Amino acid sequence: MGFFDKIKRAFSGEKPAEELKTEEKYEKGLEKTRKTFSQRMNELFANFRTVDEDFFEELEETLIEGDVGFQTALDITDALRQEVKLQNVKKSDDVQRVIVEKLVDLYEAQGLNEVNALNLQAEGPTVILFVGVNGVGKTTSIGKLAHQYKEEGKKVLMAAADTFRAGAIDQLVVWGERADVPVVRGKAGGDPAAVVFDAVKRAKEEHADILLVDTAGRLQNKVNLMKELEKIKRVIQRELPEAPHEVLLVVDATTGQNALVQAKQFKETTDVTGIVLTKLDGTAKGGIVLAIRNELHLPVKLVGLGEGIDDLAPFDPNEFVYGLFKDLIAEEK
Ligand code: GDP
Ligand code: MG
Repeated sequence: MGFFDKIKRAFSGEKPAEELKTEEKYEKGLEKTRKTFSQRMNELFANFRTVDEDFFEELEETLIEGDVGFQTALDITDALRQEVKLQNVKKSDDVQRVIVEKLVDLYEAQGLNEVNALNLQAEGPTVILFVGVNGVGKTTSIGKLAHQYKEEGKKVLMAAADTFRAGAIDQLVVWGERADVPVVRGKAGGDPAAVVFDAVKRAKEEHADILLVDTAGRLQNKVNLMKELEKIKRVIQRELPEAPHEVLLVVDATTGQNALVQAKQFKETTDVTGIVLTKLDGTAKGGIVLAIRNELHLPVKLVGLGEGIDDLAPFDPNEFVYGLFKDLIAEEK
């Protein structure tokens, strides 16, 4: 179903029940971003009676402040300039419509061939490695995901390979209790690769479906971090040559452009297959999703929408754009 069909259906109230829960979560999680963004857009429209060059400059600024990324903001504005000329748009209402159309167009074009679903194996354990700097939400996201898979009836295992801080191991153990999922752990300060070795062995022996691996994230020592992650991967591959099936880089949406810089650095450190964007509920900078995709060419696969065990959702681009521009679209009616 196309994006606008989806929106039309959303407004007409014809929506299957199972879609409601995720949509509500996105809506809530994106509240701050949406309010700020549409507030600014509305101010923009109030201030400009005619669509002239000043308007486009202001629009560009609004987009940059929304953290969609510099290049993306320029691309969107350029595309709009052409479109407005092409359609000979003059009225403010029509400009709004064209803006939303163009944003969705660009978004969908950039996202072509993008795989948002996690690469789960039908046979044997699927190994998912979580990387990212301290405090971004790795351990929390692993706990939430473990809970989801467990609820689906899968056999799940977690590995506490962030041995750098004692607290990190205990924190994962607490999530293990909450999700009722076993945690393979070693001593604080021990070798993370040894923990991962034990975990992979156990996952094979016990025919686990999913193994979620927590890691330490010390970016101040890039070379060490790179070596450690490579060692962890080698240990996994000795037992399971195709693994890890996903290397998910966890980034904190509240850090805005900083998240983008982090993601770029990590992409150089290790092969990343996707992004987990956390704390979308706590930010007005949800536009960072667009920036990550358009500037890093990495798919956002999961989003964190709160601190609770159920506050992790698969990333759905349509749902996201809809959430972001909902107020603007609603006002067109
Ligand atoms: P780690 O160091 O990367 O393992 O990060 P943690 O998992 O320990 O998370 C750091 C903090 O971020 C904790 O207080 C979490 O509760 C919080 N957190 C993680 N994900 C989210 C989220 O999606 N939303 C909100 N509001 N808080 C989150
Ligand atoms: Mg942690």
